[in-house]
Amino acid sequence: MKELTPGDISKLDRMIEQAVTVTVTAHIHPDGDAAGSTAALVAYLAARGKDAAIVLPDAFPDNISFAAEGIAPAKILPADTDAKAAKERITKSDLIFCVDCNGFSRTGDILEPALKAQKARKILIDHHIGPEQEDFDLVFSTPEVSSASELLYHILMSLPDIGHDAQRLPSISRDAIMTGMTTDTNNFANSVFPTTFEMASRLIAAGVDRDAIISRLYQSAGENRLRLMGSVLRCMKVTPEGIAYIILRRATMKRYGIHEGDTEGFVNMPLSIKNVRMSIFLKEDKGHFRVSLRSKKGTSARLTASTWFHGGGHEQASGGRLFFPGDISTPSDAESYILKVIAHTGK
Ligand code: 5GP
Ligand code: MN
Repeated sequence: MKELTPGDISKLDRMIEQAVTVTVTAHIHPDGDAAGSTAALVAYLAARGKDAAIVLPDAFPDNISFAAEGIAPAKILPADTDAKAAKERITKSDLIFCVDCNGFSRTGDILEPALKAQKARKILIDHHIGPEQEDFDLVFSTPEVSSASELLYHILMSLPDIGHDAQRLPSISRDAIMTGMTTDTNNFANSVFPTTFEMASRLIAAGVDRDAIISRLYQSAGENRLRLMGSVLRCMKVTPEGIAYIILRRATMKRYGIHEGDTEGFVNMPLSIKNVRMSIFLKEDKGHFRVSLRSKKGTSARLTASTWFHGGGHEQASGGRLFFPGDISTPSDAESYILKVIAHTGK
């Protein structure tokens, strides 16, 4: 990871010191890293005596909301359930952090205009490419780190009150950072750097219970999730080009009674097949499919996401959307669209 500059760290420290009301936001459809990094930052700010809250485009899914369980429910404001409260919170903030997303354009239709319009100091902490620099007074952005949670860890550790002593981080922050990193690396499988292990080791030494986190992340699903996984794998298609795809329709999700977050990780499964170099997972939503892409080194999931699915992300892990009507007329046309994508993506 590139070094944090002392100038940026003291600027950050000053901005926090001068702030009274701080809001931390993250990307639409927040994942474990978004939950972990927002919760860790809010817990730290609260310990510094700030009125700090999380404002989200939509709520944390049930399977990862535990990452933020140390934060009072009144301090977590999802805009999709109460747009007024979320916007009011932004309006009274004098400092705004955007974490785990490259800018306000990924915070959804309700929050984006409010965040852009608010006259507050703004700080970006993110690990995606293409930071929207112009919207921020201070930018911490590097893809050379496992997760936003890890980047936040290095930043917090560099602040004078923490002084590189993980024991001084609030325990909520330590747990949340470990959780966010664990989900974004798929439990140390992807995007792991020497600094990632170093951080994990120091957090465990400082008291993080990794077994408890693993149990809540990977040993707490409902039976229906596994049943759906079985059905999804039966319907998975693998093409001679080495691309696997899964199309999950709403009727199927309803039949299995699954919730937001229950399909987390499904997109990774086809990559366990030797000949598969990219996996495309489509999940039907209102008027569009949410698209997740994962690839092995040498194939760019990001390029496919940006060329065909109005999206982007990391080289090996990206996402986007497929609209109907728009890109396709009806949801049943999704498969022929995918086959067109595969034909153009080639071998
Ligand atoms: P997921 O498949 O887990 O939803 O997303 C994988 C990665 O792609 C995440 O790091 C996420 O930030 C990125 N991503 C997902 N959807 C979009 C999108 O619509 N636009 C961009 N630029 N990135 C996305
Ligand atoms: Mn992330």
